[in-house]
Amino acid sequence: MEKRMSEQELLASFDEALNYGHIFACYQPKINHTTGRMIGAEALMRWKHPVFGMQYPSDFIPLLEKNDLIYRADLNIFETACKFQRRCLDEGIASVPISCNMSRYDIYHDDYVDNIEAIRAKYDVPVKLLHIEVTESSAIGGMELITDVLNRLHSYGYKVEMDDFGSGYSSLNVLKDLEVDVIKLDMRFLSGDIGGRGGTIISSIVQMAKWLNTPVIAEGVEKLQQADYMRSIGCSYVQGYLYSKPITDEEFLEMLRSSDLETIAPAIQLDEMDAAKFWDPQSMETLIFNNYVGGAAIFSFLDGKIEMLRVNKKYMSEIGMNMTEKEVLKCQPWDCMDEHNRQVYNDTLKRAAETGEEVSCETWRTFCSKTCGEDRICIRSSIRLIGKAGQQYLFYVLVNNTTNEKKSYDALYNSERRFRFASEHANVYAWEVDLATKQMRPCFRCMRDLNVPPVVYNYPEPVIENGLFPPDYADMYRDWMKQLENGVEHLEAIIPLTVGRIPFHVRYTTEFDENGKPLKAYGSATLVVDGEDGDK
Ligand code: C2E
Ligand code: CA
Ligand code: CA
Repeated sequence: MEKRMSEQELLASFDEALNYGHIFACYQPKINHTTGRMIGAEALMRWKHPVFGMQYPSDFIPLLEKNDLIYRADLNIFETACKFQRRCLDEGIASVPISCNMSRYDIYHDDYVDNIEAIRAKYDVPVKLLHIEVTESSAIGGMELITDVLNRLHSYGYKVEMDDFGSGYSSLNVLKDLEVDVIKLDMRFLSGDIGGRGGTIISSIVQMAKWLNTPVIAEGVEKLQQADYMRSIGCSYVQGYLYSKPITDEEFLEMLRSSDLETIAPAIQLDEMDAAKFWDPQSMETLIFNNYVGGAAIFSFLDGKIEMLRVNKKYMSEIGMNMTEKEVLKCQPWDCMDEHNRQVYNDTLKRAAETGEEVSCETWRTFCSKTCGEDRICIRSSIRLIGKAGQQYLFYVLVNNTTNEKKSYDALYNSERRFRFASEHANVYAWEVDLATKQMRPCFRCMRDLNVPPVVYNYPEPVIENGLFPPDYADMYRDWMKQLENGVEHLEAIIPLTVGRIPFHVRYTTEFDENGKPLKAYGSATLVVDGEDGDK
């Protein structure tokens, strides 16, 4: 018969429960979903009352905590786990590390670490076979106590697992300050939402954990689909009903006998750890990332595959297309580029990886968004390597949408090309003057024979200055420019040009926009042939 005990009944029978083994441990295995091998187990407290039957942690643990009894119960479970490991050692059964839960109230007992270490020593169990699970809530009373406990656990060689990660409000904050060896991510906090926000949070946490070099165990995994999803984002360790419910020590021993085992390891090893700073909400990098750099993103590169990890708001607005952050993160940049652009981008990544310097390129990409449909945009990317782990690279990229700039430049370039080639064949020197900007663009022949640069700014001053136009014609020529700006359609005269003062027939024709405003003046100069003077 099972009946929930009252607080009084519970307190009254607690000592007896400890002494007679009514409080004991069940074990739940932790599995590598990729290999099927066991990597660890968690000891979970059970209380079987001789009269009231099975009691559940969710009912009795809060009461034990409230009455400051959890400490003794936790030490008891730790001792049970030590005894279990001792038995495995004695019977020659290969075992895995067993994790014991530490209540957040245990940290107020300043002999906690020394006590568990004394128990471990008593059973002479290698420290690597025992882990401690702590919860984020241990940091509630301030970081000092928990940091001190973690330091002392580490000094003895215990690995510490951060339990229930993702349940707390300040998960990222806590994590950056606590040196934990394993992160346990509880799927139940994020259930049913793998494709949505939950999925983004999960993959961010997993990615962040990779950067911190910390393995992640997904707990509360009930469905194959959850385990497969976790594996797909690089987290293969799972604990949950999918593989096994918590089982008795005898059942667990049997499972150890019949299972393949392996040790837990970080998903990847990072050589450089700069990247971690981008996750620190207080760091300069994060501040810069969010506020100062314009469009920025962080992505990883492995086996030719790009994975977008983080983008800031300005990145989204640079890309435009009204895409959501999720869409942008899911977007595989390679798919947006044609062969040529892919090559350009790939070369740039290669150079960035080799040199460690910021390297830039411009690539055209085709985006397709729900709201804007399909469009081709040009992105200038400045890329810098911020981390490397084996074959995996981590890049930081600043982006600019240069589509408009590019399009107008291309249009200009094409018309200019036509114009410049045309004059080459027409035996004429030709140029065009943008009347608004006073920029002059000469034909190839001007550039070649007269040494005129591709663009002359503040026309005509530079050509007056360098003697192409004789000084005595300077004022007249300046006046021409004024007339053209004012909408005069046509001008012509014979002017001795170049230092050789060779007479040229100079003509101007003006182009107007649809409102009749003068846009450009097209100039040409042809050699005066004998007799031309007289014809006019
Ligand atoms: P926890 O540390 O997060 O332990 C995991 C809990 O999730 C266990 O519940 C486990 O039975 C349950 N669980 C495991 N896989 C699944 C799954 O796939 N689906 C679902 N729905 N649940 C799953 P349990 O044993 O009832 O323990 C509840 C909590 O009680 C633990 O949560 C832990 O906070 C606390 N607890 C258990 N044992 C101890 C202990 O020895 N000391 C302390 N201080 N707390 C303990
Ligand atoms: Ca736990
Ligand atoms: Ca947990």
